[in-house]
Amino acid sequence: MSHPATMQRAAAALQKHGYRITPQRTMILEAVFETDAHITADGLFEQVKKRYPHISFSTVYRTLELLRDSGIVTQTDLGGGRWQYHPVDKAHHHHLICQGCGTVVTAPEELLSSVQRELSEEYGFDAIMTHYAIFGRCRNCR
Ligand SMILES: [Zn+2]
Ligand SMILES: [Zn+2]
Repeated sequence: MSHPATMQRAAAALQKHGYRITPQRTMILEAVFETDAHITADGLFEQVKKRYPHISFSTVYRTLELLRDSGIVTQTDLGGGRWQYHPVDKAHHHHLICQGCGTVVTAPEELLSSVQRELSEEYGFDAIMTHYAIFGRCRNCR
């Protein structure tokens, strides 16, 4: 097991949300944590399949959904029509994505902290603002 502390925290989060820790969920979790980049459900499926050829795509997809609901992974639309998954621990940043040339700039998490504060103060709304993708035009394309 590659990241014992991270795995333990993830297992605790799953249990807190009422999900059991099954061997399949454990191995999908491990695969998610082994990936440093964002990963799609397809990409994760390919990775997990190498070690566990009998796993189905729907198992991987459903597991990703419950990892998202338990606050273990982020699910972000970074363009291209596919969700990208990223462990919450590694997702303290945002992406500025140019729709003209496709350039992606990484911005610090604090970028949206004033919005988050305002949502809390004005609307009493506790927004989860980890790992956002903001689409628009870069300096060269505008
Ligand atoms: Zn990211
Ligand atoms: Zn551009």
